Amino acid sequence: MGKVYLVGAGPGDAELISVKGKRLVESCDVLIYDRLISEEIISWARKDCEKIYVGKSAGAHSFTQDNINKILVEKAADSNIVVRLKGGDPFVFGRGGEEAAILIENNIDFEVVPGITSAIAVPEAAGIPVTHRGASQDIHIVTGHTAESEITDYAALAKTRGTIVFLMAANTIGSIASRLIEKGMSGKTPVAVIENGTTKSESITRTTLENIGSVQIVPPAVIVVGKTAEYDMKSDNRIKSVAITGTEDFRKRLKARLINKGYTVKEVCCLKVIPADLNIKFDEFDWLVFTGRNGVKIFIDYIKRTKTDLRSLKNKIAVIGEGTYNALAEHGIYADYMPDKYTSEALGKGLAKIAPNASKLVLRAEKGSDELYRHINNCKEAILYRVEAESITECREDYIVFGSSLGVNTYLEQYKIDENTKIIAIGEVTCNTLISRGYNNVCCCEKSTVESIVEEIEKNEKIQTTEDK
Ligand code: SAH
Repeated sequence: MGKVYLVGAGPGDAELISVKGKRLVESCDVLIYDRLISEEIISWARKDCEKIYVGKSAGAHSFTQDNINKILVEKAADSNIVVRLKGGDPFVFGRGGEEAAILIENNIDFEVVPGITSAIAVPEAAGIPVTHRGASQDIHIVTGHTAESEITDYAALAKTRGTIVFLMAANTIGSIASRLIEKGMSGKTPVAVIENGTTKSESITRTTLENIGSVQIVPPAVIVVGKTAEYDMKSDNRIKSVAITGTEDFRKRLKARLINKGYTVKEVCCLKVIPADLNIKFDEFDWLVFTGRNGVKIFIDYIKRTKTDLRSLKNKIAVIGEGTYNALAEHGIYADYMPDKYTSEALGKGLAKIAPNASKLVLRAEKGSDELYRHINNCKEAILYRVEAESITECREDYIVFGSSLGVNTYLEQYKIDENTKIIAIGEVTCNTLISRGYNNVCCCEKSTVESIVEEIEKNEKIQTTEDK
């Protein structure tokens, strides 16, 4: 006489069977299996293993439970290892208990190998935790088959503040919902329907108790009722896309870092830097003030072109932030002043404090913001360059990044920003430009560095994948 193993195959994904279950499938002499077992699992059986399908075919019961019991007893008598494979866990609506009872009755050696039940795993894999501190402290696993009978105490169920998981309820959930509402459960209670959970054809529908009756459900489906049904604790593995705008240097540096972090990048608004004719008399000023990396680049070009010896420059130098500081440092020039906060306002206020009366030359782009000049006096401006749109295409990405007001204005001349696109902007001035043009939902990076843009995007991504409290 052989031994029978009542094995749970797990919820759908073949890999969710236990190690023991897999070993038994691979080694058994007879494999008796139900519907909803993945073909992959069946394919693990030995070539000479006798495979007996006892599931429903085309809606008709091809085998009654009596029939199955008989086969089990017979096969146990003349085979060595018999695996009775069931979807999910054998003892959760799997009639595993009945089969165990028959085996006991017939003195047949058997063992139950638990499986991962669809009642918990299907919601879980779809992002729904069936218990969650503060939201659901109990789970009720209920069959939809007894919907019309008095077996299930709907009055008690309607009172739960936990999670109710319905199995085999694709056709009865409408009347179950009416009953729960009748017994006092709110019609607004969240409901999630997960069809073909943990398989490639998994699909999830979210609705409410009062509307579930009108949802078309194709079995197999798990239906979750309760607060946790609206949870979505799944990390979105889709690769996110970022649209970038700005000058070449900015785009290049930002693009490299974003690609490094796994984003796809599209350049939607390319700005060209066009150097202006310059004639700067450095010795007329105590301070040179730089507001960006592009300015530094043009300044250095100018120095080289005019063969100005760096040693002749006696000016003190102020920069708006780290990026500009580093751009100068690359040429052996170390700025004397950089504000703590990288904004025009902070730079202006800082300069007003440390060098109120000193003469200042602000080297920057045409059409820059006036913010800086609100705070300093005794200053002149040298327009180093102007920016022109090179190409603009419509943004269809998850994020759009603006590095300057000019970028914002240039892009908005042609296109609007879709409300599903998250806007990331460097600096208050750029943010204010966006706000003044009707975009209120802007993530503003405090620091004007490409690193802080990437950080801001990463922060946003994290918020979306953590639980909503
Ligand atoms: N013993 C099984 C349940 C058997 S009852 C277990 O523990 O999972 C069969 C019911 O399980 C189906 O009607 C359906 O409600 C649910 N079910 C099983 N597999 C499923 C899947 N992959 N996706 C959604 N529901 C599933």
